[in-house]
Parts: sequence; C-alpha cells; structure tokens
Amino acid sequence: MPSSVWHPFTQHGLQEPVPLVTHAQGAALYTADGRRVLDAISSWWVTTHGHCHPRIMEAVRTQTEKLDQLIFAGWTHEPAEQVAAGLVEIMPRELTRVFFSDSGSTCVEVALKMALGFWSNRGIDRQRIIVMEHSYHGDTIGAMSIGERGVFNKPYEPLLFDVATVPFPEGDGAATLEALETHCRGGAAAFIVEPLLLGAGGMLVYSPDILRAMAEICRRHDVLFIADEVMTGWGRTGTLLACEQAGVVPDILCLAKGLTGGSMPLAVTMAREEIFMAHWSTDRARMFYHSSSYTANPIACAAAVANLAIWREEPVLERIAALGARQQAMLDRLAHVPGIVNPRRCGTVAAVDVEVTDGGYLSNLAPRLMALFREADVLLRPLGNTIYVMPPYCLDDADHALIEAAIVRGVETVRG
Ligand SMILES: *Cc1c(COP(=O)(O)O)cnc(C)c1O
Repeated sequence: MPSSVWHPFTQHGLQEPVPLVTHAQGAALYTADGRRVLDAISSWWVTTHGHCHPRIMEAVRTQTEKLDQLIFAGWTHEPAEQVAAGLVEIMPRELTRVFFSDSGSTCVEVALKMALGFWSNRGIDRQRIIVMEHSYHGDTIGAMSIGERGVFNKPYEPLLFDVATVPFPEGDGAATLEALETHCRGGAAAFIVEPLLLGAGGMLVYSPDILRAMAEICRRHDVLFIADEVMTGWGRTGTLLACEQAGVVPDILCLAKGLTGGSMPLAVTMAREEIFMAHWSTDRARMFYHSSSYTANPIACAAAVANLAIWREEPVLERIAALGARQQAMLDRLAHVPGIVNPRRCGTVAAVDVEVTDGGYLSNLAPRLMALFREADVLLRPLGNTIYVMPPYCLDDADHALIEAAIVRGVETVRG
C-alpha cells in the first residue's frame, strides 16, 4: 500500500527512496530491508549519547506506569520538578527559572515572548529583535522571522516580522560588533544568536572572543542576550554549553534536542530571575501567556531526568573530547583529498566544503552526495556544498572510519 505520510523537507515528486527503520542502537539505525546505517548526523542533531541509551529507555518505561500527561498550568509533577532542579544545578547559577515547552522552535518562541514581556511589563517600549546573518532558530513563524530568509521561507514572507541583522563574523568580527553596537544603541529588546556554531546556516564557526564581545555590547546597552543552544548545548561544541567557552551567561537560554539525550520531544527556556520577576505580580494581566498541551510532559521529563543523571555520573565530557580528537584526525586526512576545502571543527561537529566550480553543479550536489552516502549505508545530509559529521558521542573508531571512507568515495564520485 502506498504511504500517506507527508514528510518534512522532502520533495515527494522526486520519488527518492524513504528507508523504513525498525530499530536503532548506539550510532546505528537498522532498516526493514536488513541494512545497518550509521547515523552520522545524530538523527538531525538530537541524539547525543547514542540511540536507545539503556538508562533513558528504562526511565521512560518506568514513568509510563505512573503518569502519562498532566496539565501544567497550576499543576506539577515529580519528573518536571527534578528536571528543573537538575538544570538549575548544572547550568549557570544566574539562570534560576525553567519554562518548559516541547521543541526547539517553541522554546525560541518562548524566549522571544519572555523578552518582549520583560520590557512591556516594565512599561518600556522595546520590541526590536537583533539577529545574526545565516542563523537558524526553527520553522514556526516567529522562529523563521529571526532566521535566514531564503527559498525555504519565501512563500511565508508576508507573515514574518522585521528584525535588525548583524553580519556573520569574518576575521576579528569588527563589522559584526560595530553593527551590533549600532542596533543596540537604537534600543532593541533582545539579541538572539547561536553561540560559536551556526548549524543550518552551513556549520559556520566563529570564536569565543567574538561571542564574549557581543554579549558585552548587549550588556552595556541593556539589550537582553538570548543564547539559542538548541543544537550547541549538551556537549556538541566540546563543553556542556557553547557559551561556557566564552565565559558568557545569557539572560535567556534555549535548550531542546539533547535535553532528553535526543529521545523525546522536550525543550526548556531558562531565564534570569529579573525576567521572571518582571512577570511576577498579583495582577493576572502580567502573567506569562504561553502554554502548549504537552508542556513538561511527564514521560519526556523522565527521559530528561535520566539524561541529567548520565551527565552527572558518566564521563560524558571525556567521550566528547575523544570523539573530537577522532574528528580532527579525520579532518586532517580529508584536507588532502582533492576537491575538499575549508575543513573546520567545533567540538564534535566536523565540516568540510566540496569545491564548487559552477552554480548549476551546486544545486544538485547535496542530493547527489546524500544518495551516494545512503547507498554506502551512512546517513549524512550535506548543506549545499558543506558535508558535516555530527555523530552520537558513542561512535567508535571502526564506524568513524566507515563514515570517512563514504565521504572520500562520495566526493571522488561527484567530481567524476
Ligand atoms: C534545530 C534547531 C532549532 C529548532 O528546533 P526544533 O526542535 O527542530 O523545532 C532551533 N534552533 C537551533 C539552533 C536549532 O539547531
């Protein structure tokens, strides 16, 4: 029977194969036709420790026997309380409040609403959001508004609100800092940024020094600094948070993907006490008006509690460092492959660009490479001419070598 599923980011008219996955373990996906496929992009950047981590699966199983779902407006439950307490303990101490939602996009929307509510409740007229060129913050209307504009959101343009944009940092980042200073001086509500690594924008890396300088400019002008660590959080960039490497504590922090180890949909927006207190009142009109049905779903929260325990009790940062070293060794070899340029790495994310000679070739490059990788039983999804590897932290040497070989062969094939 033909499938009725309408897949995301999929052009069904091209009739490309859609593999059916039956189960997964560690870094491997197993398909119905008996293949073992390496998940070299962590199922779109979510799986941190590995698929079906036994502690997370056990926590989910146990929770399903107790409480499945609960209204979270005015009610609470143990797993949510444990997640909030665990986050406050492990994240920067200035971030005292935890607001739950269910995806990266929604925790970003929540961050924007918190920022505007903060100013509105204090009777100050500040609404403008400053963003960075090439950013990605999600696919809901607000998240698209603050992200890169292009073919992927052109039809929805009339729905998107205006923002102020700073250029992606080149060199010492002077142009970026200058633009940020100008926009901040104009009086903005907040600046939102992906710290150190712009994911969907093409795995673009910038330095901790520039991140720190941007945060200082915001602080000086009283503009809220929002860190979207939906992808960079949970060790992706080598530290628990990317902001850590710059010694920066954001006013608002967005976390999702790795919050449950990548096993269940759950997100949080953490805020400094001042932002919470701007909504704290005996006046109901000043409460934070946001909720979705599955806010702090108990089963998802149980997965997050297990993830927090893994971070406390297992040598996660050592695994990340070891994986990063392997990624670097791979990049050092790939740098010598003809047609591969611009090798770069941020923690456990390694990226290279495939040299492009003419534009027509570029438009077909990513899907051609993706098909070649799929035939090699490696799940990789190039962004334009950028091939990146963002595997689960459990990936071993042998599997890493298979990914590298698939990249070398793929690039050789597309170059003829
Ligand atoms: C993935 C991502 C999002 C959106 O998260 P979803 O869970 O897919 O809605 C937001 N911001 C960044 C930086 C991301 O990488």
